[in-house]
Parts: sequence; structure tokens; C-alpha cells
Amino acid sequence: MDQLPVFFNLTDRWVAVLGGGVAAARKAELAMRAGARVRAFAEQFCEEFDELAPKTHLKRVPHEPRAHDLEDCVLLYCAAEATEQNRRARLLARAAHIPCNVVDVPELCDFTMPSIVDRSPVVIAISTAGTSPILGRMIKARLETLLPAAYGRVAAFVGRYRKKVGSSLKDFQQRRRFWERILEGPVVDLVLAGHDGEAGAEFDAQLDAAARGAEYRQQGEVYLVGAGPGDPDLLTFKALRLMQRADVVLYDRLVGKGILNLVRREAERIYVGKLPQEHTVPQPEISRMLLRLAQEGKRVLRLKGGDPFVFGRGGEEIELLAEAGIPFQVIPGITAASGCAAYAGIPLTHRDHAQTCIFVTGHSKDGRIDLDWKLLLQPRQTVAVYMGLEHLAELMRAFIENGAAPSLPVALIDNGTRPNQQVLTATLDTMAEKAVKAGVRGPAILIIGSVVRLREKLDWYVPEEQAHEATPAAAPAAE
Ligand code: SAH
Repeated sequence: MDQLPVFFNLTDRWVAVLGGGVAAARKAELAMRAGARVRAFAEQFCEEFDELAPKTHLKRVPHEPRAHDLEDCVLLYCAAEATEQNRRARLLARAAHIPCNVVDVPELCDFTMPSIVDRSPVVIAISTAGTSPILGRMIKARLETLLPAAYGRVAAFVGRYRKKVGSSLKDFQQRRRFWERILEGPVVDLVLAGHDGEAGAEFDAQLDAAARGAEYRQQGEVYLVGAGPGDPDLLTFKALRLMQRADVVLYDRLVGKGILNLVRREAERIYVGKLPQEHTVPQPEISRMLLRLAQEGKRVLRLKGGDPFVFGRGGEEIELLAEAGIPFQVIPGITAASGCAAYAGIPLTHRDHAQTCIFVTGHSKDGRIDLDWKLLLQPRQTVAVYMGLEHLAELMRAFIENGAAPSLPVALIDNGTRPNQQVLTATLDTMAEKAVKAGVRGPAILIIGSVVRLREKLDWYVPEEQAHEATPAAAPAAE
């Protein structure tokens, strides 16, 4: 180890900062965030200094520091532009035995500044001993994704119980096991979700059981997680975290391998997918499975394509859980319309083309397409049709029969955001044939409206041959 990590208590102590530029302001801000008072030395101070709060903790001194200016300081940051000024101040600090950091000059530093992941009171500091700050920042970014933003609240919450646990559980091993169970269990989820009251009750119940030496049966829970349209990079941090905690996962056809590979390796996998004609596991059965597994005390992950509450029957799946009092969380995902539109270079709304966007399903009930055409065929509106592939020809015909211009631009995005994404652009009267020719298999979404024409301009990623066969130029929109 080249350097010793320590956490310095700066509350109400003076920290000296040399320099009036942005780098100096950043150091002043950091020290103030840790509770320090800052004495900053410079002839001129940049605007950033004006924004530092609380003002009472900042004192500006309009000249270089002299020995007596540093007497009551515990740290010095040198961030002046003039190297000579930094050297002079550093010599003063040396003489006064005050640890000194010269920004960007590791060889002149008594201490270097780590990259910081701040979940106060939990703070993680990453040091590369000045060898590669960029590497430090990259590691920081990784850690940021692993720790929920509200993790500090968890630490503060359990901190309040430390004494109580200490007096209830005398044995060290028993205490350790108890804390491990708490920190991996539903108490943490409840705190993260802002339900401190319930978290407290659950904590007390577990502590009570542990003190009596009783076996505490871990409460099961369900995570209804939106996995996005396919690209694993489109998962949310929260989705990923819960995926890595699950004991069992129920997934369907829309969830690809790339995403499934990110689920905790030990988790049991249950396929409950449906193919369009063949209902493998009926919906009520899925709900009952979720309930049964949670009642066995498992952490059940229900992984769904896109967003669970957009044509995902997520609401139905959790109804039974809510009735049975099983804790559950719903994690939103990027829905197919926004994921596919972005990856195809089609904005869903645009000042010159569409002010509204409407999501509908093209799924027919008893072979009949049943849509509110008055609502759909509004001018300056984009229509995204989910599940429209199966009856594509009828659907396109229905749009025209109900008054849309046959030349209205349509994009069909097949396997959007995945490596095999395919984008076809055509018009209402030509799309069905084009899709058959291209052998589109789905999942596929339709985007209908003049925004589709923007694709040529906005999608830098369009392969050559597709770019040329894009929307016919002379196709005015229905409006
Ligand atoms: N809850 C999901 C939608 C489920 S309905 C969501 O929010 O996205 C299933 C339909 O979603 C498919 O028929 C298709 O229209 C659309 N879809 C899902 N993933 C897709 C993808 N990767 N590419 C194109 N369409 C997709």
C-alpha cells in the first residue's frame, strides 16, 4: 500500500485553499461539504466561489497566505495558477506541519484526493496514489451503479438500532449473523422505498425472534422488473441490483439471453413465456406462482420486457400479491416505443411534426381490430402500435379505411435495440408487403406519423442500403 486511507474529521476546523479559480473552488466546496470552514487566498475569486454555501463558512483573503494565516488550519490545498505561488504556500505548510495537497502535482502532495462515492454516512474513497485519476473515476462510476442513491439512509437507519441490538444480542457471532440477515433482507428495501415505519416494525420482529433464539422465517417478496426492449445496457441500476438478489426468476419470451445472463447465477429460472398462439402458462397461473414462491420465503423476480405497466399485464400480476399482503416492488423499464424509436433515429414527438404520441395495441380481439379511430387519426400525432405484426395487413388497411392518407409514413422496427434490429420504412399502403418480403418475425413495433421521415436526417447508424430505400419523399402526412 503506497498511501494510508484515513477519514479526516473536519467539522468546524479551518482548511486553507490557495487560488481563486474553479479548481480551488471545487476543493473549497468539498471541504465545506465535510463540515470545514474554508479560508481562501487569492487576489481574485471566480464566480464559483459566490455559489459556495454556507457563506459563513467561507472567508476570502485577498492575498497570498502568510505563516500566521495558516496557524489554525488543519489542511492546505494549493490550486493557484502560478506554480511559484503553490510552492511558496507549500513551504509555509511544511514549516507549520500542515498536510498539503498541490492540485495535479502528486510529487508535491502530502496527501492525494481520492475519487469519492458519497452515500453519507457511507463514503467510499478510491485512490490510485496519483498514478491515474481517470482509472479512479472509472472505478467510482462502477461503484455508483452498485449502490442505491439512498444507501446513506440505510446506514443512518441501522445506525439508530446499534445500541438496541447490542443490548438484546450479547453474543458477537449471533449479532453478526443478525446484521447480515438484516442488511440482505427486506428491511433495506423498505428503507430504500421510504417506508421507514414498516422497516422499523420488520426490524423489531426480527430482533425479537433472534433474541428469543427463535428461527425467523425470512419474508418472501416479489420484484416486478421492467427489463427494457432488449439491449442489456438499457436496464436501470435498480433492475440490475434486484436481478442480482433474486432466488428465482420468472421470465418470458421478450427477455433475451443478454439480460438473463445478468440474473444471479444461482437463481432458479422458470420460463413462463407465451408464443402468440400458444398460451404456455396462463396469466392467473403466473400470478399464483409468484404468490406461492413468495410465501415460501423466496425473493421472486418477475422479469418483463419493456415496462411492466405498459401492455405488460403487470397490474394483474401483483393484484393477488397485494391481496395476500406480500411485499412487492415495481421497477419501470424502457418501453419498446421509446427504446425502438431512439435506436431507429425517430423522435416520437417533434416541434414541426407531432405534439402528441399515443401508444396502442394492434392485438385483435376475436380477429377484429378494435381501435378508437377518431382518437388515433388526430393531426400532428405519432401512433406507436404494439403487437401489430400478426395482423399487419388488416391493421394498415383499417388505418386507410378510417381516413388516414395511404401515403402516411410508417416505420416497423423489428427486434429493436438488439443486435439483429431491423428497421423498415414505408407508407400505410406499402408496409404490409414490405414486411412480408423482409421476413419480419418480431417482436416488432410500428411507428406511424410524419416523424418517421426525420429518420433519414437523424439516424447516423442507418446502414447504406436501408438509408436509400427510406420513406418515399413525396408522401405528405395525413394532416
Ligand atoms: N411491456 C412491454 C410491451 C409488451 S407487449 C413494453 O413496455 O415494451 C409486446 C410487444 O411489445 C411486442 O409485440 C412488440 O410490439 C413490442 N416490443 C417489445 N420488445 C420489442 C423490441 N425489442 N422490438 C420491437 N418491438 C418490441
